Amino acid sequence: MHTVLTIAGSDPTGGAGLQADLQVLHACGVHGAGVVTALTVQDTVRVHQSLPAFPNVVLDQIRVLLRDVKPAAVKLGMLGTDDIVRNVLLGLGTLDPDVPLVLDPVLAASDGTPLLERRAWGSLQALFERATIVTPNRIEAEQLTGIGTQDARGCESAARDLIEQQGARAVLLKGGHASGAPDDLLASTVDGELRLEWLPGERIDAGPVHGTGCALAAAIAAELAKGADLAAAVGSARAFVAEGLRRAWTAGSGARLLGLP
Ligand code: PLP
Repeated sequence: MHTVLTIAGSDPTGGAGLQADLQVLHACGVHGAGVVTALTVQDTVRVHQSLPAFPNVVLDQIRVLLRDVKPAAVKLGMLGTDDIVRNVLLGLGTLDPDVPLVLDPVLAASDGTPLLERRAWGSLQALFERATIVTPNRIEAEQLTGIGTQDARGCESAARDLIEQQGARAVLLKGGHASGAPDDLLASTVDGELRLEWLPGERIDAGPVHGTGCALAAAIAAELAKGADLAAAVGSARAFVAEGLRRAWTAGSGARLLGLP
């Protein structure tokens, strides 16, 4: 059994955040360990409130856990504040550098509620360098780079910027929030050369679904933990989320939730 550690915020609906990550990890056949970075008060309609954890308690959770348990991969989701980002970086200092790390740069919820304070964006960049892959959606990529992502060329420039200027090793720029074909762009460096690969997506008419980004990043982490290479892990995780969208179900009066196996 492999352990995957998710470091993420709590979402009481279970559709996103830490609770969703643990369900996805279980469905992907790995053990999910979880460090909580923030409490949110939310339902399927919106985030009502967000309360960051004490940064030193985030650090202590990571340190104490890593002293004892050796995860085969780590996933980072909502981090909330600059202090928490810095303490996560500090806590991961003892992690074997070969352990894959998937960074979902969560900036805001779909309803617009900020889930990472603006002044943390610089510290987030320091985490990019440690990440095996960073998985922004188009809005996040646009905000982090200042480059428009409404067309393919803009997406390619933004992915290039995240790698060449901001230190990411690989980027999966998700197209699910865009109108039109939800193609994703996988950008990575092979022998120092930037490689851009468009992964065609199928538009699945599931209505608004909560937590797809969390699920995708958690599934990539699970596949990497089981030994898949990056391209294979991304492929399996995209198929997992597509299947979850096909089976999306209604839990409350707002966004639907992924149907997990
Ligand atoms: N709540 C938490 C704790 C999250 O981590 C996220 C997304 O990463 C969300 C809410 C937002 O999910 P959505 O974008 O589906 O609204």
